[in-house]
Amino acid sequence: MIYRSTNKGSSGKKFKDVLFEGLAPDGGLYMPEKSPSLNDGFLAEFERKSFGEIALEVGRLFIDDIPEKDLKEIIDDAFSGDAFIDCGSECPAPLVKISNNIYVEELWHGPTMAFKDFGARFMSRVMGYFLRQTKKELKIIVATSGDTGSAVAAGFYNVPNIKVYILYPSGKVSDLQEKQLTTFGGNITAIEVNGAFDDCQKLAKQILGDKELNGKGEFSSANSINFGRLLPQMFYYFFGYGQLAKKLNVNSQKLNVSFSVPSGNFGDLTAGLMCKKIGLPIIKFIAATNINDVVPEYLHTGVYRPRVSQKTMSNSMDVGNPSNFARMLDLYQNDAKLMAKDIVGISVNEEETAETIKLVYKENGYLLDTHSSVAVKAAQESGIKDAIISLSTAHPVKFKDAIEPMIGKKIGIPEKLKETMSKEKKAILIENDIEELKDVLRKN
Ligand SMILES: *Cc1c(COP(=O)(O)O)cnc(C)c1O
Repeated sequence: MIYRSTNKGSSGKKFKDVLFEGLAPDGGLYMPEKSPSLNDGFLAEFERKSFGEIALEVGRLFIDDIPEKDLKEIIDDAFSGDAFIDCGSECPAPLVKISNNIYVEELWHGPTMAFKDFGARFMSRVMGYFLRQTKKELKIIVATSGDTGSAVAAGFYNVPNIKVYILYPSGKVSDLQEKQLTTFGGNITAIEVNGAFDDCQKLAKQILGDKELNGKGEFSSANSINFGRLLPQMFYYFFGYGQLAKKLNVNSQKLNVSFSVPSGNFGDLTAGLMCKKIGLPIIKFIAATNINDVVPEYLHTGVYRPRVSQKTMSNSMDVGNPSNFARMLDLYQNDAKLMAKDIVGISVNEEETAETIKLVYKENGYLLDTHSSVAVKAAQESGIKDAIISLSTAHPVKFKDAIEPMIGKKIGIPEKLKETMSKEKKAILIENDIEELKDVLRKN
């Protein structure tokens, strides 16, 4: 498998190059040079396969520089039953029916209770694999508004040959998120920046481009532009599709399934589009956003107007210039009409998000988090009558301050979060200052 940049300036790369480079040197994002396709035998019966079997079959199409037996070990370790809990026979991504045609696929049974665990756990392990072979060390620097950082920290914790620096905005993440970022220790260093998320992101970019600190490429990023994080997100589209076929007791070939995807940087949705491209017959995608609706707007008007994001209660989707949009354009040759044939864009406001949480709880006894609620509301609004799998990206307890008043009840805190909450915060506080950050990186 050969990869090229969406800007066409860089090509002929292997999976390993793409994994460690993250962003291509020409500023584009990496995509497969030629899309692989699954063999028909697999498509005819994938609903009978386990998550691990699906992951291996899909994964090896995109990774041919890791021997299959090693890739299998990586997959087993990344998605094992120790890390993903309380999901029974449908681990790591159980499917729950919440209305006539809407099924929620729960992607939050991993260590940080958000779907980013899928990407982070896989990516950390493939990186660790290559580094073990070359006996090199790598430093990861990542800016976070909350969820990404904790998934990356948890995913990379104790992976040999890798050090992780997490930059987060002081006072702008929830208590729980802060604990999830700052209580690891070991190879994880939390850096609390006196500034906003955008400042953290800018600092991280400056380090990656710094000739002195990163002249030999010791630093890498772990954000969702990295193809190594995108790829594992494909696995649960197949798995969810197959689980639905099983539940309905029909062959997967006979199903009409669409996916509703709560979106911010559109990594998750892009992974779904790639599934369709390699042969999973998904009918439609619903690009569900909160009021930060650049992509739904593009789908309606054909005009892309990136802008500053607005704050909402689904804050992990507060993105005004989605980083994976370049990949979406690439998949549809910059043709908005073509893209709109596959993707329905729907923006959901704050009031609708809250109403949907209340209503689904009242009528179905099912509690959605603020992000997953956006996807369910968009699914309801889409006019699609056939089955819709609505991706659920976080456990409601992660946003309990917003959700508890809506339902007038306390949300019980799972054991593993209680444990995290009781640990001591360890973070290095810095000003929004590149020299101060460089100093910290040299000393830690
Ligand atoms: C990151 C995140 C999203 C958005 O995912 P993208 O791949 O950036 O579109 C949605 N929900 C939650 C809970 C997230 O953490």
